[in-house]
Amino acid sequence: MGFVEWNCPKCGKNNSESCNAYVYGSPIRYCKSCNQEYFDNRWREIALEGTDPKSKNPKFYLLGGLFFLVVSVVCGLLSYNSITSFGTYNRRIIGIAFISFIMFILFCVGFIRIITGYEEKQNKIYYDESLKRIQNKDYIEKLISYGYNVPEQYR
Ligand SMILES: [Zn+2]
Repeated sequence: MGFVEWNCPKCGKNNSESCNAYVYGSPIRYCKSCNQEYFDNRWREIALEGTDPKSKNPKFYLLGGLFFLVVSVVCGLLSYNSITSFGTYNRRIIGIAFISFIMFILFCVGFIRIITGYEEKQNKIYYDESLKRIQNKDYIEKLISYGYNVPEQYR
């Protein structure tokens, strides 16, 4: 779960849209304010681009999770030590401990989603949606007109 923010190039309004962690979806978006379409290359049309390699890489999440756990524990211990020894603490270090712990949890979730096969199923759902979109020739034409590099076999 994540958010993509943009300023509409037509009317300038700032919009935010929810998306999955890998931003799967059509790069052709519609402004919530003026309803005009525009192109946002951050969205991944997975039937054309393939899935995000991270979504099939449990090691990435395992190592990332461990990294944040270590940072969180070290900053937590520093803060604990500072409070018990000097009765004071550095707010920034507690903040880092807290944020790192949240990152640790998020990376654990990512790891579990991959090893249980859940992510694979999600990829498939997004892939099928993407496949439906790219079978429409007008859609492909539109992508090309926005400068999107559509592989030869889908043109
Ligand atoms: Zn707009």
